[in-house]
Amino acid sequence: MTRLFGTNGIRGVANIDMTPEFALKIGKAIGTHFKKGPILVGSDARVSGLMLKNSVISGLLSVGVNIIDVGLAPTPAVQYATRMLQARGAVIITASHNPPEFNGVKVIGSDGVEVSAIEENEIEKIYFSNNYATVNWQSIGWYERRSDILKIYNESIIRKVNIGLIKKASLKVVVDPGNGVGGLVTPYLTTLAGCETITINSNLDGFFPGRLPEPNDESLSLLKKTVKEAGGDIGIAHDGDADRVVFVDEKGNFITGDKSFALLIIKTLSKFKKGKIVTPVATSNIVKDVVEKYGGQLITTKVGSVIVARKLQEVKGIIGGEENGGIFYAPHQYVRDGAMGAMLMLEYLAETEEPLSKLIEGLPKYYQVKKKLSCPDVFKEKLLNKLKEKLRNYKIDSTDGLKIYVEKGWVLIRASGTEPIIRCYIESYTKKDAEQLSKWGVELVEESMRELNV
Ligand code: MG
Repeated sequence: MTRLFGTNGIRGVANIDMTPEFALKIGKAIGTHFKKGPILVGSDARVSGLMLKNSVISGLLSVGVNIIDVGLAPTPAVQYATRMLQARGAVIITASHNPPEFNGVKVIGSDGVEVSAIEENEIEKIYFSNNYATVNWQSIGWYERRSDILKIYNESIIRKVNIGLIKKASLKVVVDPGNGVGGLVTPYLTTLAGCETITINSNLDGFFPGRLPEPNDESLSLLKKTVKEAGGDIGIAHDGDADRVVFVDEKGNFITGDKSFALLIIKTLSKFKKGKIVTPVATSNIVKDVVEKYGGQLITTKVGSVIVARKLQEVKGIIGGEENGGIFYAPHQYVRDGAMGAMLMLEYLAETEEPLSKLIEGLPKYYQVKKKLSCPDVFKEKLLNKLKEKLRNYKIDSTDGLKIYVEKGWVLIRASGTEPIIRCYIESYTKKDAEQLSKWGVELVEESMRELNV
């Protein structure tokens, strides 16, 4: 059976894969699966958002499900509202960090977390068999529009941090939501916390004229420049649906997600004294080191934000994080949340009264290299088995692919869940060793591919 759901919901190009006809059918399938509502429906600010959302709503209503349209909102705001309004679930029209032409559908359960793979399979089964619920005209669902979910969401975040303390620090912040829905919440929160707030790319625009929706070192050149020129204390950037947050220090340097996560671990463990921290196996040893130093317990998972969220919920952890800027703060909610992560970082700056660059300077030093090699999906499993055989004398963690521990660090070889590629992550104590290890890892993969005639 063809799969609709990938690692992060259904994604595709608008009007090619993601058509109104498709959205109508998937709406009917989701509604049939949930049986009853209310179901929240929200979207990010993409050009195709309204077209797809209206089709999904029609599909849901037609199978007798009541819906609450929550309008434009960050993904975590819809997730939070699902729980607070005690809805049966939610559908979010978003393609997260993908380029502007993409859009997607995320299905959320009543606990605010993406539904499980089992439920996704059920929805797919209904979709492919056209086995939709049929209801008479009297039982068509009702429609309600709510415009207060951003308020509900913001208030929860405000309750989780010490606004008075942040106010006292008189921080100057530059916020770059990348023309995405993060612009609806983060500048409001920073202003409320007394920060002098400068915004760039904060108008909602589905063409993403300011930068690509993925916030990384390359795409954030304007933010880096603005923080430096304006004498800001910190730069804050989100992806297109604001479930991720990354930072720029006061010198205009981009900070990788595992470093900012490490700072928030120190902050959280200093407050709670103990607790479980969840992160995928690909995360830097910086995280492992700070968790050990500050008395926490680290739990590693396969790569994927939904997997981290589910694990955090299962083990009742305190915080989770990903190297791409995903921050999951359990006292607020178990899913990743860009605005929550941003406010925690501002609170940490206020608590420490140190410049962000100095806090980063205090973290353990590691060097990472990332490589990708193309490999057809059908060979992925064979390749990993072959590598496992070759590496049987090494210490290996097989949580996700193969994480090989060597004297000078580690090499993680894993199959991408969304693309026909094999990813290699390498980490070591020096740049030179990281490069050498990377060469070793890549050669190992290439040699195995040759042996398998890939
Ligand atoms: Mg996202």
